[in-house]
Amino acid sequence: MTRTLEKSQAQSWHAQPADLVARSLDVDPRLGLSADEVARRRERYGPNELKAAPGKSPLVRFLLQFHQPLLYILLIAGTVKAFLGSWVNAWVIWGVTLINAIIGYVQEAKAESAIAALAATVQTEATVVRDGQTVQVSSAELVPGDVVKLVSGDKVPADLRLVTARNLQISESALTGESVAVEKCIDLMAEDAPLADRRNMAYAGSFVTSGRGRGVVVAIANDTETGRISQLMQRQTNLSTPLTRKFEKFSKTLLYFILAVAALTFVVGLGYGNPWPDMFEAAVALAVSAIPEGLPAVVTITLAIGVSRMARRHAIIRKLPAVEALGSATVICSDKTGTLTENQMTVQEIYAGGAAFFVTGTGYSPVGAIQPVESGQPMNPALTECLKAGLLCNESYLEQDDGQWQMIGDPTEGALIVSAQKAGFEMATLKAELPRIDFIPFESEHQYMATLHSTGEGDRGSGAKQYRLVYAKGSVEAILSRCDRALSASGTLQPLDVAAIQRQVESMTEAGMRVLAFATTSLAQDTLDPPDIDTGLTFLGLQGMIDPPRQEAVRAVRACQSAGIQVKMITGDHIGTATAIARQIGLQRDGQVQAFTGQALAEMDDRQLANAVEDGSVFARVAPEQKLRLVEALQAKGNVVAMTGDGVNDAPALRQADIGTAMGRAGTEVAKEAADMILTDDNFASIEAAVEEGRTVYRNLLKAIAFLLPVNGGESMSILISVLLNRALPILSLQVLWMNMINSIAMTVPLSFEPKSERVMQRPPRNPREPLLNRKLLMRVLLVSLFNWIVIFGVFEWIHQTMDNIALARTMAIQALVAGRIFYLLSISELGLGLVDKLRGRVQQIPPAPAVLAGIAGAIALQVLFSQWSVMNRLFATAPLSPEQWGICLLIGVPMIGVAAIANRLHPPE
Ligand code: ADP
Ligand code: MG
Repeated sequence: MTRTLEKSQAQSWHAQPADLVARSLDVDPRLGLSADEVARRRERYGPNELKAAPGKSPLVRFLLQFHQPLLYILLIAGTVKAFLGSWVNAWVIWGVTLINAIIGYVQEAKAESAIAALAATVQTEATVVRDGQTVQVSSAELVPGDVVKLVSGDKVPADLRLVTARNLQISESALTGESVAVEKCIDLMAEDAPLADRRNMAYAGSFVTSGRGRGVVVAIANDTETGRISQLMQRQTNLSTPLTRKFEKFSKTLLYFILAVAALTFVVGLGYGNPWPDMFEAAVALAVSAIPEGLPAVVTITLAIGVSRMARRHAIIRKLPAVEALGSATVICSDKTGTLTENQMTVQEIYAGGAAFFVTGTGYSPVGAIQPVESGQPMNPALTECLKAGLLCNESYLEQDDGQWQMIGDPTEGALIVSAQKAGFEMATLKAELPRIDFIPFESEHQYMATLHSTGEGDRGSGAKQYRLVYAKGSVEAILSRCDRALSASGTLQPLDVAAIQRQVESMTEAGMRVLAFATTSLAQDTLDPPDIDTGLTFLGLQGMIDPPRQEAVRAVRACQSAGIQVKMITGDHIGTATAIARQIGLQRDGQVQAFTGQALAEMDDRQLANAVEDGSVFARVAPEQKLRLVEALQAKGNVVAMTGDGVNDAPALRQADIGTAMGRAGTEVAKEAADMILTDDNFASIEAAVEEGRTVYRNLLKAIAFLLPVNGGESMSILISVLLNRALPILSLQVLWMNMINSIAMTVPLSFEPKSERVMQRPPRNPREPLLNRKLLMRVLLVSLFNWIVIFGVFEWIHQTMDNIALARTMAIQALVAGRIFYLLSISELGLGLVDKLRGRVQQIPPAPAVLAGIAGAIALQVLFSQWSVMNRLFATAPLSPEQWGICLLIGVPMIGVAAIANRLHPPE
């Protein structure tokens, strides 16, 4: 087959019969390709991945670093200086901007690639049939001709020609823009059918919303329709978040203000009769001093570090704004099963034929026995049927791995296999006796699953109807409503005793057990569809299984509560089970667990719902669609909501939530795609960890602001006041540049690396509407700025007047400023805070803080070069200091300790 032939056929797969398609791709749709063939085709066609669009070229990205108001000012200032003939000045300005751009470029690139690499670790899986076996592979490994199985929740991994379809519905909105899912079939389509009407095809990038099917891969990678439409996938990471946009707005407003003040300075200075080049220098120095140029870089780095710390704690961020939202989350709505609990199900109690039984043994190893609660009752036919139903109406299986029993599939089903095995039933034997011919898969909204089995009876018969056996299992409500009689202990049919069954259900759920009900019937047909079993089933019994709460979840819930974050359980399970587990996990409020059922919620109006959502901590038997309403109600009350989900229908709620969270293991592709965050271990504790890191990110950003702004404040006050008083400039524009770009990077970046502390989870959530610079923070900045001004202005005037050496006066003013700055950095760092705690005997150990120490060491080394190296003296107009003068500068910095203590009282660093 030549490449051109394939291309021409690519358009018309839908117009060919399925078997012809399979034949031309040389595959048997029942067996799939062989491993050898897959390897060969992979060699030939390459991986099933869309080629990433080339991002902005490095040059463009580098030039964009200069696209900041401050840098424009600097470039212009440098040019003016060059015209004035101060070439050294001009080159230093240009040099510093260049260094700044390089650092910014490198940091941004690093942050971007780190985040992109994380996102890439979340792979799309596909279920394929190869060598007759059903296996899971990464979707990148698909080759043309592969046979792919689809179930609801799957993302279609390549373009497929369907060969089977059962109620298969696929949402192709990404491809066609049509949001209503398309009902698929395997019939022939007209040659000229438009894409949206090719109902026998499943296209890469669309989602299965219900049903199941099977298809043959006809196109992969860039040959798929998606690949053709978008040609190239956008794999750019967007580094902008609400916070960075806030910063951008803030710096724009600041800029106009600064330009106005700088112009004023210029005019006032001229009014004093000063020459204009001097006043230009003052105006530039003022503009440069007032803009916190280090901030954007710090925001990016801090966010990136937060993302990688979260990843280390099993939370992968897919959308950067989630990092911020996590920091201000007020409510976490979590699934129960698997997230708050271990998802290690063990059947403990069975009720069948009117009698109750205990099941002994733990875990998935089939060691244990089934014993009647009241002695004397033997195994009865109802119990046998109930156990068989659990084994046959089942999609999972157990495997022995190194002597350990492993469950593949759904733990609820695993538990049923184990309980049947404890009674001596074997899956393989039973399945051979009663082969499955059709089934209705489990879906959360319908809460049941059913299978159809051929019995062998009547097969040899004289044309008599063949009876097929149905087994169904599901929630008590879903099954009981379909039953009209029960199997008795003696194997006869008897009327349904609903009251007795309900009593049993109540006692099991009160003990925290998940209860499944079982039923059977017979049908005279070879297919099974939901209407076939709407009524007329025979009730077989109940199996109650425990699923212990995760110990980490208990701890994490407590941490959330002390952090003022409400935890709510949202589950499809029974209200009794959910309440019992909630109690074990500690979801009580005022000693009570308030629980609501989805049905109760459905009957409420918006106002009642708002109250219920506020008070309740358990929402049971909630349909996935109701989650959206819950999220909206919580948000309407001003909450920032994290919501977990794993199914197809959870997607809208995940999108609406501020932090939509999908399960990495149990979650469907649809849920993962809709989520902002993915938990690789499906564990509630990881959400709490992510909140902790989110808060740490925010705290570190606030620290960076609290650290940077006072230097800008001190410098600009010095320049402004000196010009207004008609005195010599205490600090030159070049020196300001040095302080704000070189010294600040060394000292501020370590704040991004500050470790988390217990304190962050002991405060209520930050109000998301509160401005970044709240009143307390402003007071802090003002106070420290004032101190910095006194240092710069005081030292400069003092040395200038007593020694008559303006270069030395400026240098000493800067060195004293840096000395104070070091103490200030310590005062807000975890190192300094830990030191204070230790001195007060509150903690044993000071947290290690290599970043802060390295930053301080780096800053000192740079400052020594700044004043002691003759080249720097020439470039920055500095003068060398004697040891005595160094000592003086250091001493002048010491009172900062007191100022910082007041500042910490005014605005505690969290
Ligand atoms: P959860 O939020 O606890 O995961 P689900 O939506 O998965 O709840 O399940 C809802 C109900 O459906 C359960 O309480 C149980 O009765 C029933 N159920 C769960 N898993 C299965 C299954 N594999 N087959 C049949 N019924 C099930
Ligand atoms: Mg579940």
